[in-house]
Amino acid sequence: MATEALKLTAQIVISHASMSELTPKELVDEIKVIYNVLTALESSEALLEAAEGGAEPGPEAEVLKKPSIPLDEIVKEKYVVCLECGKKMRTLKAHLRKAHHLAPAEYFRRYSLDPKKYPLVCKEYSEQRRKLAKEKGLGERGFRRKKASA
Ligand SMILES: [Zn+2]
Repeated sequence: MATEALKLTAQIVISHASMSELTPKELVDEIKVIYNVLTALESSEALLEAAEGGAEPGPEAEVLKKPSIPLDEIVKEKYVVCLECGKKMRTLKAHLRKAHHLAPAEYFRRYSLDPKKYPLVCKEYSEQRRKLAKEKGLGERGFRRKKASA
């Protein structure tokens, strides 16, 4: 698969050349070096694959977990779904810590989740909290106003 290595070489050299000024000679040298490295890597990878007997996923496939539940299913009106075990709860923060020893940040990173899009509390819960905070704010302001006019 020399063409694949050539394509990669071109990509690498192009991105390098766009960052630093290279003379034509340097460019050619760089292409040679990168191409050699890539083809060497490729052939040793091919050897490894042959030795292992096929296309088994490497250990690096484990680093980022793929959620088994569709992401638009995990934050609902009455519950949020734990992607680790599939449990449904009103809030996940304490559960993640107790059941999976995960900090919220680790959880978001593990599943590449956007915390703003996929909060750890159900919609109803965050809505209630928002309302409560609003009412409290309004109440306090009203109280102060009354007192001031008295
Ligand atoms: Zn869980």
